[in-house]
Amino acid sequence: MMNWRVPLSDIKFGKEEKDAVQAVLESGWLTMGSVTQNFEEEFKSYTGAKHALAVSNATVALHMACIALGLRPGDEVIVPSLSFVATANCVRYTGATPVFADINGENDLTISLASIQSLVNHRTKAIIVMHYGGYTCDMTGILEWARSQHLPVIEDAAHAVGSYLDNKHLGTLGVAGCFSFFSNKNLSTGEGGMIVTNDDAMAEKFKLLRSHGMTSLTWDRHQGHAWSYDVVDTGYNYRIDEIRSALGREQLRKLEHFNSRRREIATTYRNLLADLTPEITVPFRDHPGISAHHILPVLLPAGTDRLSFMERMKEQGIQTSIHYPPIHLFTSFTDRNIKSDLPITEDIARREVTLPLYPLLTDDQVDLVAHAVRSSLT
Ligand SMILES: *Cc1c(COP(=O)(O)O)cnc(C)c1O
Repeated sequence: MMNWRVPLSDIKFGKEEKDAVQAVLESGWLTMGSVTQNFEEEFKSYTGAKHALAVSNATVALHMACIALGLRPGDEVIVPSLSFVATANCVRYTGATPVFADINGENDLTISLASIQSLVNHRTKAIIVMHYGGYTCDMTGILEWARSQHLPVIEDAAHAVGSYLDNKHLGTLGVAGCFSFFSNKNLSTGEGGMIVTNDDAMAEKFKLLRSHGMTSLTWDRHQGHAWSYDVVDTGYNYRIDEIRSALGREQLRKLEHFNSRRREIATTYRNLLADLTPEITVPFRDHPGISAHHILPVLLPAGTDRLSFMERMKEQGIQTSIHYPPIHLFTSFTDRNIKSDLPITEDIARREVTLPLYPLLTDDQVDLVAHAVRSSLT
């Protein structure tokens, strides 16, 4: 493993996390218990969602949202191509087809409403949006138009824990919001996730899907057969465990603090890069809402050799990444009948580089990265 001077992301757990995990181990109760219930309650009050269910990861949360909408082969779901592949795979799990929409432009890398509108037809059954970097999509415009078309909107909120629009937490605006607690996300449990909804029927469905389609003990007692359980749906095992929930609860307590440090760092980058490298675009300038600042994307000037740029950053000990190789260009997605025409996504995906951003980053390190960007450009 390379010893980076500045890695792309980094975490350090404190005594709080260690104590919480140890308490679970000592309790001997490892799954489906009160720690997870408490984590869900705390996540509900943090986001303002009516229901929150902790799950194994965000990919299964997205899958459950797609199942709950009744998606089937022949259906189409409009998704952004500039996202992680799970945003599209979840549609495929149901047999339905993801149809890729373009993004807004250089300053706004989220899904474009105009592009969504151009793709809708009688087969379209839903829209999945993704709040890139924690910056909100045009939720006001998208939700208003989707409502007029009777199309549900699922939010891939993997980047957006601690993101808001008009004081509402992202992920709580559509029919379901899917959060990721993967290692490099703002709230980290290693693997883990949460699905939120304000819809009671959806929440019931998610509860069944998460645990084998099995009715709960209380429900069975109500039906007069508490000695057993019934299976009423094709369910999965998409549960989280108490160890991860314990980590999640401690991380949630620290989240606002961590996110405000991310915000500071993002502002410092923005100012430094504006001075040092005005030819570089830092998207989401003056973006609406409050971002969780999950990542820091920058756009190299057209014609820059990105690979050499990243190589020169690496020589200076600085790790960079790409968010994202567009999904519609992956082998698994090119060999289909649906042709994608996404000029903005393809242009931006060629020029995007992600710089290190995490709460532990010091101001000196940010300065080092910004100067390395300058020297790597020339
Ligand atoms: C991380 C991520 C996911 C998947 O999350 P997991 O918890 O790893 O399944 C989905 N969508 C986006 C945009 C992500 O960044």
